[in-house]
Amino acid sequence: MTLRMAQKVMFKESWPIIYIILAILTPLLHAEVEVRRITPPKLSANFLGQKVLCHRPMRRGSPNMSVEQRYGKVIVSNYGHGDSCWALAPGCADYSNNLLINSRYSKDLKKDTPITIIGAGAIGLFVAYDLLIKGYSNITIVAEVFDALTSHISGGLVAPVSIDNDAKVQSTIYKIGFKAYNFYKSIAEKKHSHIIEGAVVLPTYFENRDDSGLETYVGVVMEQAKDVILDFCNGTTRKMIVYDDGIFVDTCKLMTAITDYLKKNKVKFVKKKISSFSQVRDKFIINCAGLGAKELSSDNKIVPVQGHLIMLKNQNPANLQYMISVYLNEGTTKSGQKVRRSFCIFPKYLPNSGANDFGMIGTTFIEGATNLTPNKEEFDIVHKNAKEFFGIK
Ligand SMILES: Cc1cc2nc3c(=O)[nH]c(=O)nc-3n(C[C@H](O)[C@H](O)[C@H](O)COP(=O)(O)OP(=O)(O)OC[C@H]3O[C@@H](n4cnc5c(N)ncnc54)[C@H](O)[C@@H]3O)c2cc1C
Repeated sequence: MTLRMAQKVMFKESWPIIYIILAILTPLLHAEVEVRRITPPKLSANFLGQKVLCHRPMRRGSPNMSVEQRYGKVIVSNYGHGDSCWALAPGCADYSNNLLINSRYSKDLKKDTPITIIGAGAIGLFVAYDLLIKGYSNITIVAEVFDALTSHISGGLVAPVSIDNDAKVQSTIYKIGFKAYNFYKSIAEKKHSHIIEGAVVLPTYFENRDDSGLETYVGVVMEQAKDVILDFCNGTTRKMIVYDDGIFVDTCKLMTAITDYLKKNKVKFVKKKISSFSQVRDKFIINCAGLGAKELSSDNKIVPVQGHLIMLKNQNPANLQYMISVYLNEGTTKSGQKVRRSFCIFPKYLPNSGANDFGMIGTTFIEGATNLTPNKEEFDIVHKNAKEFFGIK
């Protein structure tokens, strides 16, 4: 048989296999990426509400979750969670309370021993809640401020992003994150025993899987992300990925729900600034002072990371049942500070706002910036970036 004849025979005999491969591949090749239509929020100037400047308590290296003996007191630290405080709070409350309970300092810690928590933000409230659940009954929260904290006004995306984590602590942070995710999910699914509102499951869009911080959650507590095209019904489309089981924490609602539960269970609330641990009568102290920990614990690793958020007005809440978070660029503010800019949108209300004053856009990350350097021009950049993202002229 000549070579040409041999090739002909082989080709003839391979046909069924080629046919089967083509039959499998064809539908895959034509599988269409899902297109989701989103009506953009109204973003002209008269639809913009309150401009919110706030500061994340970021700690270089990692959040401080530790226990030590100082000034004759047992001091637990739980602060410095950067942009992931909400994403981690219920999990890190359990983690730091267990550190105390299992420490060598706990021999005097009885269920009715007085414990003082410094700070009434998300971390302080969750620490108190977790102690109650663990059976401790003599808890006081002391805080300089109780209202309009960063914990109330920030976003509520549950994703462990933008904290400065040493690789050594990363696996602990993920475990804490899984616990927190499950805590919120039980609220969202109305299965939580004490808290009935404050978290919802919502589609959460990112530009790619790596930016989400959620890939380690996949297969543990979350489903895989899907590729989708967002169509803003104005000629603009964007290729994104979506976790349909993302979680949005309605931060103000949840702070109120937990505070109510704590008060019902006799947790005491005292308004006072603590300048030194020696001012606290109780032996057991849990420091949840956020940025205040820099001074209180003389912790120079604490750095404020400034953020700019804009509330929206007169929107249709039904059109904003999702979250988006996209990194944009790095630059320099007018005052010469380094800024990372992202576009995000959350379905957020602030207390006392009208029913349609709904939604929040942002944000910036400016390390080291404080109220003294508000970088106000960044609000205009947030607004411009939001319009550009949605293709609004
Ligand atoms: C723009 C922006 C967007 C964000 N988005 C998200 C998000 O989408 N997801 C997420 O997980 N996180 C997000 N965060 C981060 C999160 O909101 C914060 O990290 C978090 O609210 C910090 O909580 P906290 O309890 O540590 O501190 P805080 O809420 O600041 O509370 C600190 C408490 O300590 C008290 N205190 C401080 N010093 C003293 C003292 N010396 N004596 C007595 N009391 C004291 C204060 O009065 C206050 O009660 C965002 C933050 C910003 C700024």
